[in-house]
Amino acid sequence: MTASLGGALTEADPATAAEPVIADGPTEDDWDAAVAAVRRLPPDGRVLLICHVNPDGDALGSMLGFGLGLRRLGVRQLQATFPHPSDVPEPFRGLPGLDLLVPAAEADPAPDLVICFDAASVSRLGELADRLTGPGTALVLDHHASNTGFGDVNLVDPAAAATSVLAEELLARLGVALDAGIAECLYVALSTDTGSFRFDATTPAVHEMAARLLATGLRPGDISRRVFDSRPFGAVRLFGEVLGRARLEPEAAAGHGLVWTYATLDDLARHEQRPYVLEALIDPVRCTAEADVSCVVKQAGPQEWAVSLRSKGATDVSRVAVALGGGGHRLAAGFTGRGTVDEVVERIRAELAVPAPGGDADRPG
Ligand code: AMP
Ligand code: MN
Ligand code: MN
Repeated sequence: MTASLGGALTEADPATAAEPVIADGPTEDDWDAAVAAVRRLPPDGRVLLICHVNPDGDALGSMLGFGLGLRRLGVRQLQATFPHPSDVPEPFRGLPGLDLLVPAAEADPAPDLVICFDAASVSRLGELADRLTGPGTALVLDHHASNTGFGDVNLVDPAAAATSVLAEELLARLGVALDAGIAECLYVALSTDTGSFRFDATTPAVHEMAARLLATGLRPGDISRRVFDSRPFGAVRLFGEVLGRARLEPEAAAGHGLVWTYATLDDLARHEQRPYVLEALIDPVRCTAEADVSCVVKQAGPQEWAVSLRSKGATDVSRVAVALGGGGHRLAAGFTGRGTVDEVVERIRAELAVPAPGGDADRPG
C-alpha cells in the first residue's frame, strides 16, 4: 500500500483472517520474554530488524521507529532491511531512521537478535527467511490474525490497528521515551494502516497513541501530504488511463459486486512511472459504490501479477487470497497471480463464487 488519494487501506481488518493461529494478544509472559530478549544482549550484541517484502508504511515505520528506539537504548550494531528489491517507496523516503537500512544481501547472516515486523509468515521475508532460524533469538511483532507464530517470542495482536502499536508498547516497556524521530515513524505506520484513522480499527486507543506521537511536535499535515497526497503528474495521467478501463461486474461476489482494473509494465513505461505508484491505485477503485469487492492487478513480470483485493465488509477477501496462494486481512488481502490478466481475474471470480463457510456475508466488517 502507500501514497493514496485519500488514504491507503492495507492492514484494514485485523479482526478476522483465514486460519487464525493466534487469537489473543500477547500475554504478560510474552512481553516479559520480549523485554528480556533485548535486555540480555551483550554490549556489542548484533541486532537485525526485518520487515515484509514490498514494505508499506506500517512495515517500514514500525521497523525504523523501533530501530531508533534501540539506538537510544545504546544498541550500536544495528541493521534494518527487507527482501529484494530494496528500493524505499517514494512516499517513505523522508522517514527518520533510513540510515539504518542495508540491502538484504548485506544483512548480518547471524545476528544475536532478529526482530521481524508486520509479516504474517516467513514466506513474506523472501531471502531473509533463514535469519529467523539462526542461533540468535527471533522476536516477531505483528497484527495479522493469520500469523503463524514463527518467532521464538511472538508479540502478535490481531486486535491491534498496526504493528506499530506493538512497537510503541515494547519501547515503553523497555523504558525508551518517544522522541520526534521515533514518533514520526510510528505515526506513518499508524496512519497508513488505519487509512488515515478512517477504518474500524481506529479505536480510542489508536487516537490516544496518535496523541502521544503528535505531542513530540510532529506536523501531521506535512507527513500526510508526503505519504498520502503526493504523486508525479505522470502517475496522475496513468491513473486516469487505468481507471478508464475499470470493469464493474454487479453479479460477481454472490451479487455483492466486483470492480477491477489492471496496469501493465508497458503502462508504467509509457508514463515513465515506477511500480510503487500503483500501490495507491486501489483507493480510487474501491470507492465504487456498486461493488463490495475491488481488485487491482499489477503486472510484475511477463506472466506475473501482484493482486490487491479489498472488501467493504460482505466478502472475506483473505479467504480468496489464501486460496490463490497469498494472504492478508478479511477486508484487505493480496496474492501473486500467474498467466494473463484474464486468467488471473477469472480465478478471482471463481473463488468469489465459492460460498463462504459459516455465512460470511452476515458478519460485520
Ligand atoms: P496490498 O494490496 O499489497 O496493500 O496488500 C494488502 C494486504 O494483503 C497486505 O497487508 C498483506 O497482509 C496481504 N498481502 C498482499 N500480498 C500478499 C502476498 N503475495 N502474500 C501474502 N499476503 C499478501
Ligand atoms: Mn504491511
Ligand atoms: Mn500492518
